[in-house]
Amino acid sequence: MSEELWQSCKEQLMEELNPAEFRQWIEPLNVEFSPENREFTIHTRNRIQLEKIKKDYLERIKNTIATESDRNIGFYLVVRNNTRRATPSSSSPQTTPPLKRKPSAAVTRSSTATGYRSGSGEKNHHASDPRTELNPVYTFENFVEGGANRVAHSAALYVASEPGQQYNPLYIHGSVGLGKTHLLHAIGNKFLSNTPEKNIICINTVHFVRDISKAARHKTFPQLQKFYQQADLLLIDDVQNFSSKEKSQEEFFDLFNFLLSKNSRIVLSSDTYPKQLESIPERLRSRFSSGITVEVEPPQLEMRVNILHSKARLQNVHLNDDVAFFIAENITTNVRELEGALNNVVAYANFIGKSVNMDIARESLKNSIALQNRQISIEHIQKTTADYYQIRLSDIYDRSRKANIVKARHVAMYLSKKLTSNSLQEIGQAFGGRDHTTVIHAERKIKKLIKTNNLIKRELNILEQTLNI
Ligand code: ADP
Ligand code: MG
Repeated sequence: MSEELWQSCKEQLMEELNPAEFRQWIEPLNVEFSPENREFTIHTRNRIQLEKIKKDYLERIKNTIATESDRNIGFYLVVRNNTRRATPSSSSPQTTPPLKRKPSAAVTRSSTATGYRSGSGEKNHHASDPRTELNPVYTFENFVEGGANRVAHSAALYVASEPGQQYNPLYIHGSVGLGKTHLLHAIGNKFLSNTPEKNIICINTVHFVRDISKAARHKTFPQLQKFYQQADLLLIDDVQNFSSKEKSQEEFFDLFNFLLSKNSRIVLSSDTYPKQLESIPERLRSRFSSGITVEVEPPQLEMRVNILHSKARLQNVHLNDDVAFFIAENITTNVRELEGALNNVVAYANFIGKSVNMDIARESLKNSIALQNRQISIEHIQKTTADYYQIRLSDIYDRSRKANIVKARHVAMYLSKKLTSNSLQEIGQAFGGRDHTTVIHAERKIKKLIKTNNLIKRELNILEQTLNI
C-alpha cells in the first residue's frame, strides 16, 4: 500500500511540476514507509536537497498523500545515511508532525480577521482544504510585469477590480512555468481584499473533476452544485486536464452558464489555446473563449533579470546585477526554472555560509546550464528510441505499420518536437520525408496516451532522462 501511495503521489507531482524540476528533485528521492508507525521517511542526498524539499515540495507531498490516503501519516525528512527520527534541530534531520486527512470538497472563502471561513450555508466544507487555498504570496505586487505578460496582467487586474465583469470568462493560456497560476491567485487575493464578503472558489481542474466523480459516487451532486453556484469568482486552473470525463464536462458546462448568467466572474488557465483543447467538446471550448483570451509568453532577458531581483527581494537576499544577468542569460526556459535556479544558488550559498556571488552561482548552476546548452538532435532521439524499443533504426523512418514500430515512431516524433527546436516540417523530413501533419498527429496521439496510460508515461520519462544525461 505504501509503495502504491508514493507511486501515485509521484505521478501526481509529475503532472504538476515541469519535467526538469520533477527529475531533479522528486525522482531521486528514496522513500521508506513504516506501516507500524504509519510514517514516510524521505531520504535526501544532502542537506541542499533536504532544504529544497522542505521548502518547496514537502507541503505538496503531504497534501497529495493526504488526499490519497484516509489515515494519518507522519513525514520525516532525513539526509541519507543519517539515523532516522533524529530530534528536530537546525543541524539534524527535519521532522514534521503527522498529518490529518483533509476532506476533499472545495472551499469557498471570504476573509475574516482571523482568516478564511467556509461559504455561507455550507458548514460541512472545511476551510482548511489545502488545495483550494489562495496562495498569499501569489499577488499582483509580487508579479513582475513585462512585454511577455502585459496584456494578461492588465486583463487579470481588471477582472480583480470593480466593475470587472466585461471580460468574462478570462482565459489565460501559455506554457508551463510562466505565471498562470500566479495570476489566478493574484486575482483571487485582490478580489478578496476588495470585497471580503464575496465568495471565491479557486480550484485545480484535477481536483474539480475528482470532486465531481466523488459526488456522483456518493450521490451528493446537489450539495456540490449548490456550493459551486455560490461563487462570485471562480478560478479554475489547468483546464487542459478536463480529460474526457463526460460527467464532469456536463457539470461544468451547466455551472459555467449558471455563473455567467448571474454575472459571477470566471477565470480559467490552460496550457493551450481554447481551440486546441482536444479532449473537450466544442460547445465547452467555445464557452471558454466567449470572453477574452490572453497569453503569457516566456520573458525576455531584461524581464528575467527583473524577476530574479524581485524573487531575491522576497527572500531578503542581496543579488548583484552580474549574478542576476548570469542566471538570466543561462536559464531561458521559463520563470519556474529561473526561480529554481535562484533557489539553488541561494541554498548553496547558505550551505557554505557565504553570500551569493558569481563563483557560487557558477558552481551551483553548473549542471543545469550544461543541460540547457546541450543540443539534442533528432537523430539522437531516433537512435535512443529505437534502442529502447528494440527495433532497428531504419524501422523508424520506413513505412512499417506494425503496432510496436508505429508506437516507437510516434514516441520519437513526439520527443523530437518536445526536445529540439526543429520545425514540424524538418521533423517530418527526418522521419523518412513524411508530411508535417504526420508529426502533429503523432504528437497528439502521444499526448493523449500520456493522460491515460501509465506505462507510456514511465517509458517517456526514462527516455527523456536518457536523452538528457
Ligand atoms: P504556470 O501556472 O504558468 O505553470 P506558475 O504561476 O506556477 O506557472 O509560475 C511558476 C513560478 O514562477 C511561480 O513561483 C511564480 O511565482 C513565478 N512567476 C511566473 N511569472 C512570474 C512573474 N511575471 N513575476 C514573478 N513571478 C513569476
Ligand atoms: Mg500552473
